[in-house]
Amino acid sequence: MRLVLLGPPGAGKGTQAQALSALWGIPQIASGDLLRAVVREDSELGREAASYMDRGQLVPDEFVLKLIAERFRKKDARSGFILDGFPRNVRQAEALGTGLEHAGLKLDKVVAVTLPDEEVVKRISGRRTCRNCAAMYHVVFEPPAEPGVCDKCGGELYQREDDGEDTVRERIKVYDETTRPLLDYYGRLGLLAQVDGVGRPDEVEKRILAALNGMAVPIKG
Ligand code: AMP
Repeated sequence: MRLVLLGPPGAGKGTQAQALSALWGIPQIASGDLLRAVVREDSELGREAASYMDRGQLVPDEFVLKLIAERFRKKDARSGFILDGFPRNVRQAEALGTGLEHAGLKLDKVVAVTLPDEEVVKRISGRRTCRNCAAMYHVVFEPPAEPGVCDKCGGELYQREDDGEDTVRERIKVYDETTRPLLDYYGRLGLLAQVDGVGRPDEVEKRILAALNGMAVPIKG
């Protein structure tokens, strides 16, 4: 299965990608996680990437495409992947299509998870992320058993730099202007399914699986 998850920030792409990755035994490839790993290295490139991310702007395509290409070269991506947060604009989508074509591959499906703007702000402002394994929680809707501690790995939970309200509004604007056109792009290619992102994660997951109904999906044994 080669799947793209599209949707505004906070729509639940990361949560859904993690669940589907566990279900199917294929990796979640999240461009935001790859970028945050570079930022943690505290290099010149990392500082440059952070300067875009902290403002809610997109990091330049060249940089992101290089990171994604490197990630695709890892062995675990051979049996499929779930892309989360990539592509973010038409240029990235075209580069992805060309890269896959050169490898004799193609995308199976693009699922757009939709969510109203106000819901986005509400969800993101309460979001907490594990520094260690990137698992996500919400202080109200999905709290960890012990505040500030990841249930899965015991790592420290923190609020991402770009999850403050002003930056979230900027990220929504960037999504509307730059990423939303991908719905038309993938619609024209006949790859798009839209799924309502309102509700509990397990409900949204069921909707995604229903939208993929009939597709050959390797279920992890
Ligand atoms: P995310 O974790 O997907 O919400 O991404 C967090 C931030 O990382 C975004 O607001 C962008 O600054 C940057 N980012 C993530 N993915 C991409 C991408 N595909 N292209 C450009 N910037 C990205």
